Amino acid sequence: MKPSLFGYHAPKTLAEAGAILAQDADATVLAGGQSLLPAMNFRVAAPSALVDIQHVEGLKGISIKDGAIAVRAMTRHREFELDEQVRQANPLVAEVMQHVAHVPIRNRGTVVGSLCHADPSAEMPLLLTLLGGSVIAQGPNGAREIAAEDFFTSFLTTARKSDELVIEARFPLLPAGAGWAFDEVTRRHGDFALVGVGCIVTLDAQGKVQTIQLAACGIADRPVRLTEAEAMLKGSTLTPDLDAAANASLSAVVAPDDMHASASYRRRALKALITRMVTKAASRVRPGAPS
Ligand SMILES: Cc1cc2nc3c(=O)[nH]c(=O)nc-3n(C[C@H](O)[C@H](O)[C@H](O)COP(=O)(O)OP(=O)(O)OC[C@H]3O[C@@H](n4cnc5c(N)ncnc54)[C@H](O)[C@@H]3O)c2cc1C
Repeated sequence: MKPSLFGYHAPKTLAEAGAILAQDADATVLAGGQSLLPAMNFRVAAPSALVDIQHVEGLKGISIKDGAIAVRAMTRHREFELDEQVRQANPLVAEVMQHVAHVPIRNRGTVVGSLCHADPSAEMPLLLTLLGGSVIAQGPNGAREIAAEDFFTSFLTTARKSDELVIEARFPLLPAGAGWAFDEVTRRHGDFALVGVGCIVTLDAQGKVQTIQLAACGIADRPVRLTEAEAMLKGSTLTPDLDAAANASLSAVVAPDDMHASASYRRRALKALITRMVTKAASRVRPGAPS
């Protein structure tokens, strides 16, 4: 199919982009177009106009500041994946990025676009949720920071207002010496995750869990922090408590059966992934490593 008729704007400044969004609530931001254009071609989305932000000044680049990796809105997936500073500062990023679609899509699609699209099976929303990151939304009344847990509100829905542009995402660095792991179950490489799980863990000198962050995608209408399992594993030596913690997470699967997988399959995949990711993350811990 072809999209319905739409207008097109190519602003050069944030102020211009903001003014167009403020005037027309049905106008939609266009970043890499890898999710929006297929949706328009299927007529799932029919915006009155596209506000193409690729030429807006100040929206490109990655920097590391205040304990986080700041990713500006027009940064492509592939730049985030291959950036050497990012690889050093947070190796979990590259581990996650290789699962996002395929290289040609990662060359065009943006990290922030994926966050704004808010597919509950997508890897970027999971990564932001797992790390406890945030986005910066710029609107007519200035900029506001929105924590990941507040940003993703439902299926393909975020707390962003229609007159706001997300200008940056902030992915916190890993704690000193932390181990990390991410993997997902898909039918084919490059597909969206049926279920994905990420884990970040630090251990004390006795091998007990000091801090643990666990999150999953593909199991609900948004990415989910598995807080019950985190609480059960904190202070434990992992192995005796891991099975019970994985079982306690199964109630977080609320996605209904669909053409891709049943809820029961998702629960089994979630349990297997939690067990594997916690074990893998713990094996990568470097106690006493400098931050
Ligand atoms: C075949 C195929 C397979 C894919 N597989 C995967 C996969 O396995 N995992 C995965 O995570 N993704 C996958 N994707 C999606 C891909 O990662 C997209 O690049 C990404 O979801 C959206 O980024 P984009 O820059 O292309 O955003 P666009 O398509 O331009 O925009 C997406 C949405 O976000 C909004 N938006 C974009 N930027 C902003 C902003 N700065 N402020 C406010 N709103 C904004 C747009 O208005 C639109 O609603 C796949 C895509 C295709 C075509």
